[in-house]
Amino acid sequence: MTEDDTPPADPAEARMRFVYALRSRGVTDARVLSAMEEIDRQDFVTGIFADRAYEDMPLPIACGQTISQPSVVALMTEALQVGPRDKVLEIGTGSGYQAAILSRLARRVYTVERHRPLARAAQKLFDRLGLTNVTAMVADGSHGLPDIAPFDRIIVTAAAEDPPGPLLAQLRLGGIMVVPVGQSDTVQTLIRAVRVESGYEYEELRAVRFVPLVEGIGQ
Ligand code: SAH
Repeated sequence: MTEDDTPPADPAEARMRFVYALRSRGVTDARVLSAMEEIDRQDFVTGIFADRAYEDMPLPIACGQTISQPSVVALMTEALQVGPRDKVLEIGTGSGYQAAILSRLARRVYTVERHRPLARAAQKLFDRLGLTNVTAMVADGSHGLPDIAPFDRIIVTAAAEDPPGPLLAQLRLGGIMVVPVGQSDTVQTLIRAVRVESGYEYEELRAVRFVPLVEGIGQ
């Protein structure tokens, strides 16, 4: 991610500029910044886009999906307020990048993906990187993981028309969910839901654009 258009040739410098640029986009949480410094986005971007891994843009991955924009990953992670004892659920593994960052912040991370090849590739990468507290599973994430619930934190990285009811139900009291809400072909709103005694409190965070949350398991 560079402020000008000339990507630096030196990868170490590129990563330093990457984290610097996250700060300049308003990310202030020191734990989030250091997790994003530790996890190398280049591990999660393969093929012809690999050399653009440090740019602040979403990039294509397999199965017609995308790895999210780093500044959006950072701001969503910050909004989730993950603590070291938290059990976290992510819906939409994609490349595994967001889950890998969460694994540095949480006690345990479960990430769910509807495309088997993506879930497999992500799990392989977690194993190779020694990220032992994160598991990728193949399922329709809109149902959550009822057998493993409740969760302290839930993050959805695909856009739903409304915050999915089963996911809200799997949030622990005091738990936080971050989810992009809106039609898939337009700009969506990132919502933070907090489970309280009387129900849920909602807050609108910012405009985002995500691929849609799709029902069922992919091919
Ligand atoms: N978090 C990812 C990017 C997510 S892209 C990363 O860090 O790279 C959104 C992902 O959500 C896609 O891979 C898509 O296949 C997946 N997805 C969409 N609907 C889903 C559903 N119902 N259950 C599980 N995964 C879903």
